[in-house]
Order: sequence, then structure tokens, then C-alpha cells
Amino acid sequence: MSSDNAKTKADKPLSAPQKALRKLGLTRDIDLALHLPLRYEDETRITRLADTREGEVAQIEATVTHCEVTLGGRRQLLVTVDDGSDTCTLRFFSFYPSQQKALAVGNRIRARGEMRGGFLGRQMMHPAFHAAGGDLPTALTPVYPTVAGLPQSYLRRAVQSGLARADLTDTLVPESLHEIGLQPSWNLREALSFLHHPTPDVSLATLEDHSHPAWQRLKAEELLAQQLSQLQAKRERARLRAPALRPATHSLHHRLRDALPFQLTAAQHRVCMEITHDLARPVPMHRLLQGDVGSGKTVVAALAAAICMDAGWQCALMAPTEILATQHFAKLVSWLEPLGVKTAWLTGSQKTNERREMLALIESGEAALVVGTHAIIQDKVVFKNLALAIIDEQHRFGVAQRLALRSKLTDGEQEPHLLMMTATPIPRTLAMSYYADLDVSTIDELPPGRTPIITKVVSDTRRDEVIERIRAQLTQGRQIYWVCPLIEESEALDLTNATETHAQLSAALPGVMVGLLHSRMPVAEKKAVMALFTSGQMGVLVSTTVIEVGVDVPNASLMVIEHAERFGLSQLHQLRGRVGRGAAASACVLLYSTGDAPRLGETARARLKAMAETNDGFEIARRDLEIRGPGEFLGARQSGAAMLRFADLATDAALLAWARRWAPVMLDQHPALAEKHVQRWLGGKAEFLKA
Ligand code: ADP
Ligand code: MG
Repeated sequence: MSSDNAKTKADKPLSAPQKALRKLGLTRDIDLALHLPLRYEDETRITRLADTREGEVAQIEATVTHCEVTLGGRRQLLVTVDDGSDTCTLRFFSFYPSQQKALAVGNRIRARGEMRGGFLGRQMMHPAFHAAGGDLPTALTPVYPTVAGLPQSYLRRAVQSGLARADLTDTLVPESLHEIGLQPSWNLREALSFLHHPTPDVSLATLEDHSHPAWQRLKAEELLAQQLSQLQAKRERARLRAPALRPATHSLHHRLRDALPFQLTAAQHRVCMEITHDLARPVPMHRLLQGDVGSGKTVVAALAAAICMDAGWQCALMAPTEILATQHFAKLVSWLEPLGVKTAWLTGSQKTNERREMLALIESGEAALVVGTHAIIQDKVVFKNLALAIIDEQHRFGVAQRLALRSKLTDGEQEPHLLMMTATPIPRTLAMSYYADLDVSTIDELPPGRTPIITKVVSDTRRDEVIERIRAQLTQGRQIYWVCPLIEESEALDLTNATETHAQLSAALPGVMVGLLHSRMPVAEKKAVMALFTSGQMGVLVSTTVIEVGVDVPNASLMVIEHAERFGLSQLHQLRGRVGRGAAASACVLLYSTGDAPRLGETARARLKAMAETNDGFEIARRDLEIRGPGEFLGARQSGAAMLRFADLATDAALLAWARRWAPVMLDQHPALAEKHVQRWLGGKAEFLKA
């Protein structure tokens, strides 16, 4: 949006405050108009000194009766002022000569600051002041969030002129407003003018808790913009064509179901029906399959793939890490190869020859199924006829990668169906706002026969007891994961941590095979270690977070997470999901260390507590949202995109519901207004929401 601007103004270098404005993202008039104050100062009144109260900010007008620089102890400027009702001391620890001059005895000044009591009588520390007289403003003075190099006064003028210039004509339809109790008089211009310069009689509480009508108006506008842009994306997608894929009788799909060593759970059955229904339509599916770790998403993906292949089309499954992709490959091959499916394998670390061979299989269509990492979306890969793309742990892929996937897969006429899978369920409010363009299927039950995982939070000082416990599990033929944190700032430290633990456990457990797995090992070595663990020969696997997603070894019944305090909540939950996959009772030990600190930080404690209290992925996601806020929770999806700045999903459910109701009405009946509204609020950012 600003690239043209930037070009035409290129010859004129930006001043420091102009650069700072850029940095704050305040480039368009509307951006300035939407840059709301952090708080306000009341400069509309003069208070008599006798009426001021300790602890309150007051503006006074008084005459200087005494002014001295004290030299004993700390150098300071002490000024006594008198307004006829009382006197007070103004105290400055740093001051310019010009300020000292302005405070000469006999001068009348207007000063503003917090009144404090004190040993030497009442005083103001470092009050703002200037010469007395001049008109009093009629509105509160805004104080804006700012950055270094951008003085408040400059920012105020910039916002003021942005507000004056911005096109703020109404884009909401009046009949929608009464539903949320808003008077049409609170239009966008009125609301913004008020929030920048409220009248002094306003209840500050309603500004602070954002319940004031001006705030309601702004939040409603913002939520509507979000819903509109997502509904637009959804409708654009609905106009695209995709191959209609219908399961045939005696098909691969049915044979796969019959061959599975287990019955689908009711939840798996339900989501399979939802996906089957989508695939049969000539419109690209855009569905998120969410289900807790271990809920059995892979088999649902395999069944969807089977429908696709039955119809004579190719299917691709992409996973964020090589280990995870390997696991999927192994599992899918074991299910599908006996039924005659040829599967290709694609990854970044592949030998050139093998890769060439795979690319040929994919291009000729001989391989109906392709499994791999994001090597799948690279330029050289040409599909014969791709109709279904499945992305596992979609949140681990960045926005750019997901956009690349979409453009890669489109051949201009038809788009493939898209199934995204995640073990990090999206809390309902987020699903309705940020992910409104997505259809969601949820697996809300685990396969039968799983015993809940017992989680214990244990201090690192009790490490010996934990090793004892490992020994007990090993004698019962069980296997153990021991996870060490990945310290991104210090790869060396990360490795030391894992190798030291590996050495310690090897020494403590003679006769047991203890393996080590970390991110910087060559892929072949990683695979060899995983194979030993999967086959059961290796008793203990020490690793960094490489096993974080999707690894499936049902015989592993104990997981120890070292420095658990350093992990995020959803990460801990994902890790824990690696155990409790078989029938044996499983446990997770969260080892924490406070280092030199006397105790754990508050958020770390909240995370560990949540882990100990619940196994439910939805509850974990809810608490995660509570602890971190939506910004971090959304992560990649929102980087650079439009976060909600004004509305708060926790308190604005009614406004969100309103926006969801009115978005389709706006698009159908007032398309021009809808377009203008989205442009105004999201500008060029709307594209990100589609990723
Ligand atoms: P996730 O949803 O975490 O990806 P997986 O697909 O890896 O879970 O499944 C976890 C384990 O449960 C696998 O070993 C899988 O074969 C098994 N499984 C899946 N569905 C069922 C079922 N209905 N009954 C029994 N076991 C199942
Ligand atoms: Mg999985």
C-alpha cells in the first residue's frame, strides 16, 4: 500500500520522527487516526492549591515566591509557589538554566504534577510547567504510545492531522447498529474524535475498560473487518473448482478400513464423514482436522487419501520435520502398500539419484501417494494430477510456506482439496474470529483402552529418584523418552545438556541401550537411532525436541522432560502425548530447575500446574491462551497480519457474534461498503489471513 508512496518521496530523506512513525506502522492517515491514546491528562481545569489532594494529579497556577539551587547533598532546584490559597514546593533534580530562569521569583506559572505530602510540606516532583495564562483546552489531552525519537508533541500533531485528513465516512449500515445498542451518532469519525480528545466529564472507567460507546463502535468495526475479510476469502475459494472425489464400492477406501487392526472411534468416523462429504464436492475443501495428540488423525488422513486415489488422483502428505514425515511414510506404506498403492518419498536430505527417481514417479503419476517434508512444495516437483494435499501439524509451517503451497498446487483451473491437521486445538473464540474462513473437524475422543497419563512435577534435585523409576520401567520391558530443551540462543549449550544427560544415564543404567538424538545429527544417523527405538532394542532415548511432533512408539510408557520450565505449554502437551499410546499405564515427569533463583517464575509455574492438572488438549489450549494471550498463540498465522487491536475476544463475544451475523449481509447487500470497510481496516494485510 505504501510502496508507491515510498517511491515518490524517495528523494526526500525521512526525518527521525518520520522514521519513527514508519516504525510504528503509522503510514496512512487512517493508521494515524487509529493510533489511540494510552491514557489522558486533564489540563482543562486549574485547581486551587488548597483544594488539591495528596496522590492526585493536579494543574495549578501560582506565583514563584522562592527559587534556589541547593548544594548540600544532591544538587536540586527547589521552588516555592503560592496561589493565594496555599503554597507548595516544586522539586527538580535535573534542570536546564532556561528552566531555572522561567522559575524566577515573581513569575506566574502553570504547573501540572502529582501532589505529594512530605517532610517539608506538600510538593510536586518534576512537574510539567510553562508560563501561566493562555486558554485552557476543552478536552482531555491524549498521551500516545510512542518510541524513542518520536516526541509526544510531534505525534499529537501527526495524529491530529491524520484524523482530520482520513476518509472516515460511514461503512456500517445504520440498521445493524441498534442490535449492539449503538446510536448511529457514534459514527467512526465521532468515535475517533472523542477517543483522541474526550470531554472532561467522561467517566474514565468506561474508557479504560473500553465499554464507552466510542470504544464499542471501534471494536465492532474491527471485528466486522476481520469477519468480512475471512468471509471474502471463503467465498473466493468457493468459486474455485476442484475434482469431485467420490468413494467407489469395493474400493481402496473400503479395503483399507477392513484391513485396519482396530475399529474407528465414533469421533474418527464422524470426521471421516465430514471429509468425505467435502471431497465429493467440486469445490476445494479447506478443512482443519483438530484432535488431541494420540487421537488418531493419521488413519483419518489415510482414509481421505484412499478416496482420492480411488478416483484416480494423486494425494500428497506434508509434515514439518523429517522424522515425522518418515513415521507417516512408514505407517502409510504399511497400510497401503499391501493394497497395491505406490508411495513416493520426498525430502531435502535425499540423494540426487533417489530424488530424481521419485520426481519421475510423481510426474508420471505412477506414485499415487507422495509423503515428505516441505521438499514437496519445491519448484522441481511436478504432479501428474494432484487432488488432495494433507498438511500435518500445519501451525509449524510459516505463513509464507503455506501461501507457497497454495500457489504451487493451483493449475489455474482446478485446485486440490486441502486438509490441515493439528494437535493444538484452537479455542472456540479464536476459531470463530481468526479462523472463520476454515471448516473445522474435531476428534474429541481418544481410542479406547488408553490409560490416562499421570503427570508429576519434580525438582531436579530429585533426579536420582527419577532414574530409579526408569530402572523399574525398564525391567517391565517398557521404554523411556528423556527430553532435553533446545536452547536456541546457544546450540552448544543445548548439545552439552543432551550429551551430558546421555552420558549420565548410560553410566547409571549398565546393560541398557541408551540412545541420543539431536537436531544437528546427520539424517541417516537420526533415522538409525529412531529405528532402534521403534523396534524396542533401545531402552532409553535421550533427545532434544526433535520428537516433539507425531512420533509413535506405543511401548514407551515414561517420559521425562528436563528443564520443563523452559518449554511452552502446548509444546509440553505435545511432548507428553508421545507416551500413553499403548495399554500400559504411562507417566510424565516434569523435571524443573530454578537455577540460581529461589523459585520458579509465575508463568512457568502456571504452565507446569496446568500440565499436572489436566490431560485434555482443549483445556490446555484454553489455559495457554490465558497465559500467553492470542498474539503468541496464533504465532505464524498472524505474523504481519491483522491482530485484533481493540476488541478483546474474552469480553467482546457479543460484538463478535454481531460481526458474524452482519458480515454476510454486508457482502450480499452492500458490497461496495464492505470492500471499503476491509480496505480501511486491513489495507494490504488481508492476504495473510488466507494462509
Ligand atoms: P495423532 O492424532 O496424534 O496423529 P496417531 O494418528 O499417530 O495420532 O494415532 C496414535 C495411535 O493410535 C497410533 O498408533 C494409531 O495407529 C492408533 N489408533 C488410531 N486410531 C485408533 C483406533 N480407533 N483404535 C485404536 N488405535 C488407534
Ligand atoms: Mg500425528
